[in-house]
Amino acid sequence: MAMIQNQIFLPDIMIIIFIFFAGAIIGSFLNVCISRLPENKSVVSPKSACPDCGAFIKWYHNVPLLSYILLKGRCRYCGKPISIRYFLVEFLTGAGLVSLYYFFSSTPVFFFHAILLFLLIIITFIDIEHQLILDNINVVGLTCALLFPLIIADHTIKDAFFGMVTGGGFLFAVALVGDFIFRKESMGRGDIKMAAMVGCFVGWYGIVVSLLYAFIAGAIIGIIARIYHREYLPFAPFIAFGTIIFLFAGDLFITLLIE
Ligand SMILES: [Zn+2]
Repeated sequence: MAMIQNQIFLPDIMIIIFIFFAGAIIGSFLNVCISRLPENKSVVSPKSACPDCGAFIKWYHNVPLLSYILLKGRCRYCGKPISIRYFLVEFLTGAGLVSLYYFFSSTPVFFFHAILLFLLIIITFIDIEHQLILDNINVVGLTCALLFPLIIADHTIKDAFFGMVTGGGFLFAVALVGDFIFRKESMGRGDIKMAAMVGCFVGWYGIVVSLLYAFIAGAIIGIIARIYHREYLPFAPFIAFGTIIFLFAGDLFITLLIE
C-alpha cells in the first residue's frame, strides 16, 4: 500500500515542479510583453537585452528566476540593477500555474484560466509601470473568452456575454457615481474595459464577486496610500487580485463578511 502511494506521490511532485518552471518560462515571456507592448515594439524580436547597456542576454544567463538570484539582480555586463519585476512576474506566473493545476488539474478549464492569469499579470504590471491598460490586451482576452465556449461545455457563450455586460456595466456605474462625487475622472476607462474582459471569463456572478474583492482591497490599500501621500493608485492590480481570489476561494470571503 505504502509503495503504491509513493508511486503516485513522486510523479505528482515532478509534475508540480515541471508546471512551476514552465510557468516561470512563460513568465519571462510575459516580462517581454510588459516591457515592449506599451512601446509598441515586437515581443518576438530582437532578443532580450539589458535596458541600460543594451547587451544581449545569453540564453544560459536567461534561466527564469535562477539567473536573477545568481546575478543578484544585476546586469552581467554593466552591473546596473535589473527591476525586481522580472523576478516577481516569473515567480507569480509559476506559482499561479501550480495553483490553477491544483484546483483544476489538466482540464480545458485549467488552460482557460491560465490564459486569464497571463492576461491579468501583463495588465497589472503595465498599469503599475505606465498607468495604462492597453486596448489590444483586452481585445485578445475578449476573443479568447468568447472562443472558449466552443471547447468548454460549462462555460457558455451566454455566460461570457452576461459576464462582459455585468463587468463593464458595474464599473461604468461606479465611474459615473465617482465622477459626480469627486468632480473628476474617478475610474480609468481602461479599468471598465478590463472588467468587461474579465467578466467574459468568469461570468456575471464571478465578476461581481471579483470586483467586490477588488474594492475591499482597493479601499484598504487606498487608506494606506493616503497615509504615505501617494495620490494615484492604479486599479487594474486590484481587479486582478480580486479575480484571483474569486478563482481560488469563490465568494467565501464575501459571505463571511455578510454573515
Ligand atoms: Zn547592462
